[in-house]
Amino acid sequence: MKTIKGGQYLIENVQKEDIFISEEFNEEQRMMKEAVVEFMDREVWPQKDRFEQKDYAFTEELMRKIGKMGLLGVSIPEQYGGVGMGFVSTMLVTDYISSASGSLGTAFGAHTGIGTMPIFLYGTEEQKLKYLPQLTSGEKIGAYCLTEPGAGSDANSGKTTAVLTDDGKNYLINGQKMWISNAGFAEIFIVFARIEDDKNITAFVLDYDKDNPNGITLGAEEDKLGIKSSSTRQVFFNDTKIPVENMLSERNTGFKIALNSLNVGRIKLAAACLDASRRIITESVKYANNRIQFNSPISKFGAIQAKLADMSTRTFASDAGSYRAAKDIQNYIDSLLAEGKSHQEAELEAFSEYAIEAAMLKVYSSETSQFVSDEGIQIFGGMGFSEEAPMESAWRDARITRIYEGTNEINRLLTFGMLLKKAMKGSMDLLGPAMEVGKSLTEIPSFEQPDYSELLSEEKEMIAKLKKVFLMISGKAVQTYGMELEQHQQLVLAAAEVMIEIYMAESSILRADKIAMMTSETAAEGQIAMAKLSLYNAVNKISENAKEAIFYFSEGDEEKMMLMGLKRFTKYANNPNPIELRKTIALKVIEENKYCF
Ligand SMILES: Cc1cc2nc3c(=O)[nH]c(=O)nc-3n(C[C@H](O)[C@H](O)[C@H](O)COP(=O)(O)OP(=O)(O)OC[C@H]3O[C@@H](n4cnc5c(N)ncnc54)[C@H](O)[C@@H]3O)c2cc1C
Repeated sequence: MKTIKGGQYLIENVQKEDIFISEEFNEEQRMMKEAVVEFMDREVWPQKDRFEQKDYAFTEELMRKIGKMGLLGVSIPEQYGGVGMGFVSTMLVTDYISSASGSLGTAFGAHTGIGTMPIFLYGTEEQKLKYLPQLTSGEKIGAYCLTEPGAGSDANSGKTTAVLTDDGKNYLINGQKMWISNAGFAEIFIVFARIEDDKNITAFVLDYDKDNPNGITLGAEEDKLGIKSSSTRQVFFNDTKIPVENMLSERNTGFKIALNSLNVGRIKLAAACLDASRRIITESVKYANNRIQFNSPISKFGAIQAKLADMSTRTFASDAGSYRAAKDIQNYIDSLLAEGKSHQEAELEAFSEYAIEAAMLKVYSSETSQFVSDEGIQIFGGMGFSEEAPMESAWRDARITRIYEGTNEINRLLTFGMLLKKAMKGSMDLLGPAMEVGKSLTEIPSFEQPDYSELLSEEKEMIAKLKKVFLMISGKAVQTYGMELEQHQQLVLAAAEVMIEIYMAESSILRADKIAMMTSETAAEGQIAMAKLSLYNAVNKISENAKEAIFYFSEGDEEKMMLMGLKRFTKYANNPNPIELRKTIALKVIEENKYCF
């Protein structure tokens, strides 16, 4: 397995051997998955309605149970109360535990991600020994207080203050935080506040005891569109005392802590959307197989089959990308540990190395769950609009995933922005390959017909060509706008879209290829069809975005040359047949009466 560092997929020829897929879970992970699924089916899914009744106590009760099962600290080392199983296992648990309701998924994600990781990644040994066992056992629930009424996406602009007391022993916190998940039952708060006129905020860890509130008051539960039983409140601090030793890392480093903790939160959110999407597809196909119209199950209709195929294809890609990146992160952590780095240093470096992938996966997977639940409603027809059917709450719950942990706009901007930063710092050579592609635009292309007899070989070549599209447009964008590029947001968004589509289609293709190798081409027929459809969709989306970029920054002969390059780089030798591919995929799901990939 070759190490492909963060963002480097764009300039590397990634092979199936270089990626991990969820079909490769080891025995221990399989058992863990079974235990979580069994818990969800027994304790959560049958009581799903309670989540729609603002039953916050139910969410809290489940969180405590999950803690007792040892699932709140999967990758936290044992000396801090975790089970030390590694990041792939963390993703696996997040994936399956979030499947029944966004309320529980949010409580779990806020607690184990942004509620716990700042302490694990930045805490002193004492802080870790004190707080992590309480969090991993579920004895105390964590919350993360970053957002304020005037500071959302612009998180470093918060007005909450931290003032050192005269005796130098405490900070007094004053301010207002908003949209704080788990606030109603959390007892450990990560709080961000500004000291004097510091450029950046500072992070603190704070104990909250409702019998001795220390100047903390909670707002009422927010009335929300979805995730009805996820506690979301405002938190007010009025001269709240925090001992100086509760500062996380150093003064003025809170923004860095917030961002790095979000890197973990984002990729875990991608995982949290996975089994939710799988369950929705299963519910949809069961309904479609039962529902008779025009004397036929509606699953026999092409219109419904196309939906089932598209829903499955996006979910398959989200799964492929999420576990690919999770394993890359895990491997990176392991290699840094082997070099003698501490767990804390290794995780911090690894999550920051793969921050681009985390942002891309958050965007793609959240939009997949929204798409899947929307099509799920459509398959259920009028019944889909009813609170009685599972689609309605799934759709409402899915909506938040595009907003929190950084909105999808912010994550798209970051995707390309972080890549450029890597290139500018010299940790990745983007300019060299971009110039090569630029030069090749004026060369006469080869008209030789390559041998595509090997499985998915044309698709892999297409991925290589799509990477050239990205290099062509990003190279030109940097050349034209230089340091001003971030002012041209629509262009940055187009470049990010191209990056995301390449990563997801490549992940699908390599996953299908690997499954075919592990089983057979016949057994992997559905997965191969999904990989091909994923690529076909990516080619269309990339063409559209690249064209907009070219129209924006070039004209005359240069525009013509780039459009010709785009045509060449997006041209199939053998066109795929998307209608047939969708039929193949849908028939598998219909026959199995569930999402079966
Ligand atoms: C249910 C829920 C739970 C939450 N849980 C937590 C939590 O536990 N802890 C916590 O700290 N926060 C939490 N949040 C807050 C959440 O992270 C923010 O809502 C989110 O980051 C967006 O901030 P905002 O709502 O202020 O929107 P704004 O930042 O005002 O954004 C509004 C719109 O403008 C766009 N926009 C903003 N800036 C830019 C830009 N530079 N370029 C382009 N577009 C831009 C956004 O993408 C968005 O579409 C939660 C929110 C909700 C709704």
